[in-house]
Amino acid sequence: MKTTKLRIHRVHLKGSILVVFCIILLSILTSCEGEETIQEPIVDNTNSNTRGVSEMELANIYYGKSSSTDCNFEYEGLEGPEFWANLCGDEWVDCGGNAQSPINIITSAVTEDGSINNININYGESTTDIINNGHTVQFNYDMGSYASLDNINYDLLQFHFHTGSEHTVNGKRYPMEMHLVHQDPITKLLGVVGVFFEEGEENDVLEEYLDDLPEQKGDHFTNTSTFKVEDLLPGDMDFYTYGGSLTTPGCSEIVTWFVVKESITASTEQLEKFESIMHKNYRPTQDLNGRIVKTKS
Ligand SMILES: [Zn+2]
Repeated sequence: MKTTKLRIHRVHLKGSILVVFCIILLSILTSCEGEETIQEPIVDNTNSNTRGVSEMELANIYYGKSSSTDCNFEYEGLEGPEFWANLCGDEWVDCGGNAQSPINIITSAVTEDGSINNININYGESTTDIINNGHTVQFNYDMGSYASLDNINYDLLQFHFHTGSEHTVNGKRYPMEMHLVHQDPITKLLGVVGVFFEEGEENDVLEEYLDDLPEQKGDHFTNTSTFKVEDLLPGDMDFYTYGGSLTTPGCSEIVTWFVVKESITASTEQLEKFESIMHKNYRPTQDLNGRIVKTKS
């Protein structure tokens, strides 16, 4: 009897050890899995906090406002630029402000300033993420790229296009202008680099994406293939700079502009493709109202 009882005890003991072991093993396994599922979204969040936001939303971030309006604007007709300031209650009154963009740059009136620094670019590669927001074709750029614009490090968020150019130089309007939108991560103020396109040789970077450009409002094209926006920039990044605004409503006056003097080229076919999608999406030039346009001496 005694030995049978002992044996039963031992079997129970072995059984319990096995159960405890299994529980410990299971809890280790599940805790590992738990850690993994927590980590993933954290990595995602750091990459997506300002990814793909519109200019209007960037202004909201600066002003600490929570949401954008549903108001609509166009580039002609009753919702055209001359009416923007009054289209949305008090929301877009800045469009009638005194420091608006774009402007006509009169080169003979530009002031040379020895304290202005070169644009210093630290752009990496980005995966492809193109959106048609109904007003422009916008390439959202992977986070981590930045440019030192007159000694302030701004993060590159996105770049987009206007046909024809928004800024003009001595009255000349180029067929297209690219805007590289940067944000100062601390002040949330914006630094926008404008690059003019001239009709000429085919542009290799644009050619890569010409058939993939989203043609209708809300269309989106994504691809894991990478490219470098630096390949779209002219060799000489000398620029005109002035204080202005976003060129779309609400026209917030939170932008330091860096309009690059040297233009780049795109073929007739490439320019026509952009224009067929975006139509005319440039705002007329605005009064300087005493502002000074500067360049480095
Ligand atoms: Zn723009």
